[in-house]
Amino acid sequence: MSLDAELLEILRCPHCGGHFVCQADALICKDPACRRKYAIRAGAIPNLLPAEAEQLEEEAWREAMGD
Ligand SMILES: [Zn+2]
Repeated sequence: MSLDAELLEILRCPHCGGHFVCQADALICKDPACRRKYAIRAGAIPNLLPAEAEQLEEEAWREAMGD
């Protein structure tokens, strides 16, 4: 399950204002310095609370950007 493409266009990372890459269970910020990962709850609702975001290691982030 993935988010609607139009919704994805509108959403921005609350930490840096960057765009997202959408994965099955998370939105990942495209900004290489930010790399925040926001979980998508119940397959549909992204949790965009900065305090609950996880910062990916650079390697994991690159992998996420690659697919
Ligand atoms: Zn960001």
